[in-house]
Amino acid sequence: MYIVKKLSVKILLETLALLMFVVCMHHPAIGQQQNRLRHESIQKETDKIFPRLVECRLHLQANPELATSEQQTQAYIKKYLSDLGLQVETDVYGYGIVGILKGEKPGKKIAWRADMDALPVNSADQTSPAAQHGCGHDVHMAVALGIAEILAKHKSQLHGTAYFIFQPEEETFKGAKSMIENGLFSKIHPDEIYGMHVTALPVGQIMVKENELFAYQKRIKISFTEKLADNIAQNLSGKIHQGLSRAQSGTQPWELQQILDAEKGLSSPNSMFRDYLIMDNNFEVYEDKNGTVMEAYLYETSASNLPKIIPAVKKMIEENGLKNQLASISFSQENPTVNNDPALTEMANRTLKDIYGENSVTTDYGQVPYFNDDFAYFQQKVPGVYFFLGGSNFDKGLIAMNHSPDFKVDEDCISIGVKRFASLMFERLKE
Ligand SMILES: [Zn+2]
Repeated sequence: MYIVKKLSVKILLETLALLMFVVCMHHPAIGQQQNRLRHESIQKETDKIFPRLVECRLHLQANPELATSEQQTQAYIKKYLSDLGLQVETDVYGYGIVGILKGEKPGKKIAWRADMDALPVNSADQTSPAAQHGCGHDVHMAVALGIAEILAKHKSQLHGTAYFIFQPEEETFKGAKSMIENGLFSKIHPDEIYGMHVTALPVGQIMVKENELFAYQKRIKISFTEKLADNIAQNLSGKIHQGLSRAQSGTQPWELQQILDAEKGLSSPNSMFRDYLIMDNNFEVYEDKNGTVMEAYLYETSASNLPKIIPAVKKMIEENGLKNQLASISFSQENPTVNNDPALTEMANRTLKDIYGENSVTTDYGQVPYFNDDFAYFQQKVPGVYFFLGGSNFDKGLIAMNHSPDFKVDEDCISIGVKRFASLMFERLKE
């Protein structure tokens, strides 16, 4: 009896102590205060390392490497991550790198992905293409290194494990798929994955939407059993283009510069970049050993419309009296598209707005044509969110239109990306 009573008192005291501890730890005011200070610290530390991140971007910009050649880039990233004290893996695929940062508190496993390769630049006086960071992957790497550095500085308060995936060969759409096929997700096991792309949006803006962020890009290939006369092939090309294309009335979703338009661009609920099928104006027409072949790219916003395309084209060919000459219709290229997990998108939105204000992230209402990112392959394995990071500064004449010859970035976007995404990673790792 005595022992039991003594034990009971002890248990009671322990329970009380535990309760007090739990109450203190989870007292909303104290919790909020600690959280506010943590994210203020993330911002202050980012301001401190910002000049170095700009240097880092300039170094990568000055040393661009094409897909499959990212050797110096890998060496640079590897050194940076190792100096931060991260565990670094380079044996996944190609010149890819994975940095692993373990927080000192228990939590989830969250991955951040950055792509590494530059674009080829063809000019008349060169035999082989030169490289240029015309898509902003140098900025992506600087942001990812910044997030890694900031989270490493907060290691004692950091929960879980953060993975930093530096992916080669994005421009050829091979790197992500190859990293997965070579066992990336047997080495690391992220619960969620995040990534971003710098875009022509104004600096300061981050934009996101749930589900498909881009249109589905397909290349349709029509093969005939004989050579078609040029005028017949041209006529058919025009008929298919006309019959298949779709846009909201009076809109031109193929005019990419309109993504910034306040009324019809991505940020408007009436965006013209919703519900369309855009197609190359003309098919590429050539002969193979059997006969005429016609190929064209098309961009469709809705997954449910994709299975209807080939039957519709078949019908048009038959209506044009070419049923007997048709050999086959197929998609010669059909990549997955970036597809944001709706629940995680919602949570990321809320987290960013709670910490950085209502305007820190805006909703994207459209799907961008022509572009895509092989981040889509990661999202097939791990739920994740991919953001657009504004990189333009129109007053300074810096327009971050990807792949354009005049692609220029306001480097302030590096600071904005590091702050907001480091805060997001920090919060997501806790859950
Ligand atoms: Zn890119």
